[in-house]
Amino acid sequence: MVSVICSADKVLISGNLEASIEAICSRCLETFHHQFKTDFSDAFTLVKGVPLDSAPESLAAETANMQTVTGDYLYLDEYIRQLIILAQEYSPLCKPDCKGLCAGCGADLNQSTCSCDLDEEEVDIRLLKLKELKSGRKV
Ligand SMILES: [Zn+2]
Ligand SMILES: [Zn+2]
Repeated sequence: MVSVICSADKVLISGNLEASIEAICSRCLETFHHQFKTDFSDAFTLVKGVPLDSAPESLAAETANMQTVTGDYLYLDEYIRQLIILAQEYSPLCKPDCKGLCAGCGADLNQSTCSCDLDEEEVDIRLLKLKELKSGRKV
């Protein structure tokens, strides 16, 4: 649902977007469908008849931080795409209590348990590599 209001120099759009996107769980790396809803409202400034790349500098500067409409049509594809990108969580989880993968053996802890005992020492992969490098160096 999108409503569009046009005035002399502005196009106001508002509505809500509901979509299902494919995301990869940041803990267990499973692909899952992520439902999201977002409300939006935005104003586009009409810049009639002036392609922005050949616009006078003053106009280009003035509109640099605005969303503009230069043609006769307002294409929302890119706008919607940006909305979806913004709505995507930085580290999506397939479920709030996803147990993730074992840092020791890589087992999916949602489906199985493993016998690694990693509680005492959290292993940082970067440190581990560093250690390997150091011990591999001939003294
Ligand atoms: Zn997960
Ligand atoms: Zn394990």
